[in-house]
Amino acid sequence: MSADSPYRAPLERALLHATTYLRDVKSGRASAALTKDSLRERLRLPLSDEGADPVAVIDDLVAAASGGLNGSAGGRFFGWVVGSSLPAAVAADWLASAWDQNAALYACSPAAAIIEEVAGAWLKEILELPSGASFALVTGCQAAHVTCLAAARHAVLEARGWDVEKRGLSGSPPVRVITSTERHGSITRALKLLGLGTDCVVTLPPDDEGRLAPERLDAALRGHADDPRIVVLQAGDVNTGAFDSFRELIPLARRHGAWVPLDGAFGLWARTSPEHRRLVDGVEEADSWSTDGHKWLNVPFDSGYAFVARPEAHRASLSQRASYLEYAEDARDQMDWNIEWSRRARGFATYAAIRELGRKGLADLVERTCRHAKAIVEGIGRLEGAEVAYAPVINQGLVRFLDARPGAGEEDHARRTEAVMEHILQSGEALFTGTTWRGNRCMRVSVSSWRTDQEDVVRAIAAVAQALRST
Ligand SMILES: *Cc1c(COP(=O)(O)O)cnc(C)c1O
Repeated sequence: MSADSPYRAPLERALLHATTYLRDVKSGRASAALTKDSLRERLRLPLSDEGADPVAVIDDLVAAASGGLNGSAGGRFFGWVVGSSLPAAVAADWLASAWDQNAALYACSPAAAIIEEVAGAWLKEILELPSGASFALVTGCQAAHVTCLAAARHAVLEARGWDVEKRGLSGSPPVRVITSTERHGSITRALKLLGLGTDCVVTLPPDDEGRLAPERLDAALRGHADDPRIVVLQAGDVNTGAFDSFRELIPLARRHGAWVPLDGAFGLWARTSPEHRRLVDGVEEADSWSTDGHKWLNVPFDSGYAFVARPEAHRASLSQRASYLEYAEDARDQMDWNIEWSRRARGFATYAAIRELGRKGLADLVERTCRHAKAIVEGIGRLEGAEVAYAPVINQGLVRFLDARPGAGEEDHARRTEAVMEHILQSGEALFTGTTWRGNRCMRVSVSSWRTDQEDVVRAIAAVAQALRST
């Protein structure tokens, strides 16, 4: 028996299951078929005293979990903002598990550290961020916000002579976070985690295009002129993909001495597309940028990126030295920049995805998904009983379904919209999720998967047509 024998059989089973799944999900269901109860029945085995054969563990796992998987690895999953995974990225992610490298420090895994160094530099080039910015490969945009807002907290308080890492926040000058009502909830969560709390948030209503208005921002900055201020801007709102106007807002915030973190979970990737890059014009002037790999870059989950224009603020907020660790002199120790200590070497998947796509492939992925989103929204808009609430500017659009009865009101339309969505979900033909936008219940059309093609577009519209006929 060869030395790899304990791994070969379960990995070969996993390979077979995975490749079969990835082939079939393209034409198969976009949503899970099983109910909670049947999943519990299949998965809740009594905890056993005895172990099990690894092959049997994998086969049983696949048999029990399969019906509970959503088809986000296929091309008709349009819920939230969820990408699929590129082939090289999935394979590299498997290797990250097989190699089992700890990406805490250079000394824990030289290859993982250098790959992250390279991936970080590539990402800055791709997204056209300042080459001197520091970065961290984190679990997602939520963790990127925690990272970037920790740097922001450090910087604005340091400017007031307050060492927040040492003294904490009690008794500190009151930090104000000025942002839009349309901000993502992950910003709010980051502020809670960082001890800034939600009372520090000064919320401004956006204009008709979903952008922060310069006059309102200016007034809010003046209204809190004595406080340390952070202005959180957004590239790509989850409902409409709206972008703040960075050319105006960033210099304005800067004139008031505010620090400007940017939430660009998916929208920042518009930067890669000649057709859409004007939307993120001026974004390079921000102080930090949070984005995702697992959305538009199509890297497996557990992949986000934080970039900070002033590395010293980033490092001061996170660095922690311990006597039992070895630090690298001329290499990057990731835990100086990451909120995790031990962690997965997630840089392999990002590195592989960027190599697989190249700049052209990435621009094509972004433009293609935008075109598909537009085609789906327009196709649905032509159906009897459907209405376009927001035509996509990038890869996010909104539709809703109207109750045709005379005198039907907003609540009736909301009910019909929910009923149509539920019918589509049950059919498994496509998966869409809902939102309330400007008081109206809508169905979101969000396309981020490299696998979505023309056939998926046609099938998704047909699924909506069928649901409209049946509800
Ligand atoms: C998805 C999203 C987030 C949160 O990102 P995660 O990767 O889920 O942590 C933050 N902001 C926006 C605009 C998003 O779309």
